[in-house]
Amino acid sequence: MKCETIEQAALRYGPVNLVSRQWRHEARWMVICDVPPRIASVWKNVASGRGMLTHRIYCNRDMLSPLTLALTNILDAGLEHELKTFDGCYEIRPCRGSISVLSAHAYGLAIDLNAHENLPGHEPRLSPALIQCWTSAGFDWGGNRPYKNGMHFSYAWEGNAPPLSSMLNAGLAPSHRA
Ligand SMILES: [Zn+2]
Repeated sequence: MKCETIEQAALRYGPVNLVSRQWRHEARWMVICDVPPRIASVWKNVASGRGMLTHRIYCNRDMLSPLTLALTNILDAGLEHELKTFDGCYEIRPCRGSISVLSAHAYGLAIDLNAHENLPGHEPRLSPALIQCWTSAGFDWGGNRPYKNGMHFSYAWEGNAPPLSSMLNAGLAPSHRA
């Protein structure tokens, strides 16, 4: 099922400790998504280090079907070469610009891709056809927010990121991810 908000996700998946970076129910929810070979062979895995390709994605089991569908959509549309970098899925951390609001990444419910050319606050450079492959599979796209984050596709809506000025006022350097 898809949680419509990150608060719903917190109820479904249980608490995450942002200090110790631990999620007690990780083993119950996280699974491996096998990436189709035609995509894996072109999709550089920046999250795992240089020279790696994206053969597997460790993600929430609730995201397994939509992720598989999005990848199938990409294959069907012949857009696999538009997937340049995989920039991470599961990472226990708050939303960009917050110290307490969980990112969908904390539950393995978001994917970052082509980060180098879709930085937060910049005009996204993904093709509408590629975006459609994800949104038609149920993902929310970060590029649709007032403060754009084009690399970010999530399977639980996190709300709108706070404006950059509030992050700077809070003394938080904006991360390149959200
Ligand atoms: Zn992200």
